[in-house]
Amino acid sequence: MKEITVISGKGGTGKTSLVASLVSLAQKPVVADCDVDAADLHLVLDPRVKEAHDFSGGKTAEIMPDKCSSCGKCFELCRFGAVIKDENSKPAYVIDHIACEGCGVCSYFCPEKAIAFEAAVNGRWFISDTSYGPMVHAKLGIAEENSGKLVALARDQAKTIAENEGLSYVIVDGPPGIGCPVIASVTGTDYVLIVTEPTLSGEHDLERVMELINYFKIPAFLCINKYDINPGMSDKIEKKARAAGIKIVGRIRYDRAVTDAQIKKIPVAEFTNKPIAFDLKNMWNTLVQEINLVTKGS
Ligand code: SF4
Ligand code: SF4
Repeated sequence: MKEITVISGKGGTGKTSLVASLVSLAQKPVVADCDVDAADLHLVLDPRVKEAHDFSGGKTAEIMPDKCSSCGKCFELCRFGAVIKDENSKPAYVIDHIACEGCGVCSYFCPEKAIAFEAAVNGRWFISDTSYGPMVHAKLGIAEENSGKLVALARDQAKTIAENEGLSYVIVDGPPGIGCPVIASVTGTDYVLIVTEPTLSGEHDLERVMELINYFKIPAFLCINKYDINPGMSDKIEKKARAAGIKIVGRIRYDRAVTDAQIKKIPVAEFTNKPIAFDLKNMWNTLVQEINLVTKGS
């Protein structure tokens, strides 16, 4: 089983549309949507949820009103401004759960043992069926953190399903950027596919992603989406990627069919017979060939 993580240095490169097409072209992969802060792969793959679970990425404090003596110790100690004072209520202190960082200091020092410190529900994760194979997806709650843990959980679940069902590929739709959730999506993966676009910001963000991949020493491939909107910039980006040891596996042309396919909830590679579908098929075939070469050489 091989895990391919698809990332982009920035949002808006068309990464998720491209992942949906790869999922439709691979023969029954497991797909993991790890863009947990703004998950949207389900909009195209239309999954049927089989299992739903709460996700807890940390703990949160809760004052038990019947035990609290309103001494104010927790208010004094909390360094995150998460204990709110309201002299008109009883007890006079409550926890702001959005501000609470889950450090546990208030609970530890409360003289009345009046602060419960329990696992918080920060999101949900799902195991679903799609027309193309199993899907693991997740949704972090509003203003919740610890998305790196949720990404790791989604990847682990997807790999377990692939192993149990004897499936060849796990395709991970990674988050944009280069922050903690991206690191969680590439750490220990077999291959990274970088999706970029031929713009100045695309070039800049690609450089940051290449640094990250270099640091983790993961075999990486590059695909330029909408290459024909600026062929000169596409050439420049490819040159930079090659110099960094990244193989180019495809150029995908711009086509309005991408938007039409999204509206119909169909991966574009399946939606149309226009040249963009051939670009995508060629890209997948090249990627598989390259992966086999890397695997044989390792
Ligand atoms: S430290 Fe404990 S007893 Fe004192 S105000 Fe806070 S919760 Fe109430
Ligand atoms: S757990 Fe930490 S952050 Fe949360 S209210 Fe208590 S002291 Fe503040």
